[in-house]
Amino acid sequence: MRILLVEDEPKLARFVQKGLTEESFVVDVARDGEDGLERARRTAYDLVILDLMLPRMDGFAVCRELRTLGSETPILILSARSVVEDRVKGLELGADDYLTKPFAYSELSARVRALLRRRQPAAMLTLKVADLTLDPITRAVKRGERRVDLTQKEFALLDYLMRHAGQVVTRTMIAEQVWGFNWDRLTNVIDVYINHLRNKIEVASESRLIHAVRGAGYVIRETDSTA
Ligand code: CA
Repeated sequence: MRILLVEDEPKLARFVQKGLTEESFVVDVARDGEDGLERARRTAYDLVILDLMLPRMDGFAVCRELRTLGSETPILILSARSVVEDRVKGLELGADDYLTKPFAYSELSARVRALLRRRQPAAMLTLKVADLTLDPITRAVKRGERRVDLTQKEFALLDYLMRHAGQVVTRTMIAEQVWGFNWDRLTNVIDVYINHLRNKIEVASESRLIHAVRGAGYVIRETDSTA
């Protein structure tokens, strides 16, 4: 899942980005309100984390503009000001939740998950392809009863494939949704990661689940009906 963080304090932005990335979210950072608004308009984010005091355009204006444009993306406001009027104003402008700085990362993480779960309950359900399961909340991956340990990037890649089970996803889609950017040489990196995943989820006599589709990309599905 892809999150936009609009935050002008580099240290805080890095801290939040690092934490969420470790939880397998793809996080883009905008350093000012205008850039944040522009990115939010261009990309379908699952969540926007929005600071209030921002250069060029403040968080209230970004929030108002996004809602005026019809965006239904959940917005979590971060603010150094714990003034009740600010909180009310943010919520009135269409924000979904409000967190006062300084905050513990665990609280941010819990609120992010709660917002995602509220808006997209299906996004938090266990994913299943054949006997392979992935639980987005506990992050447990199992093939049958066998527990599979994945790195953060392998988990994000498998999560993306499983959310599109039965559909061919291109390397460009994978690059943008799992790595958060696209460049030519990433294609090889993706192939390497696919191999790592296969080595972990298709062991010994276990059936093949990830299939390469020549000239297109990859698909995860129970049986390879096109082979
Ligand atoms: Ca700020």
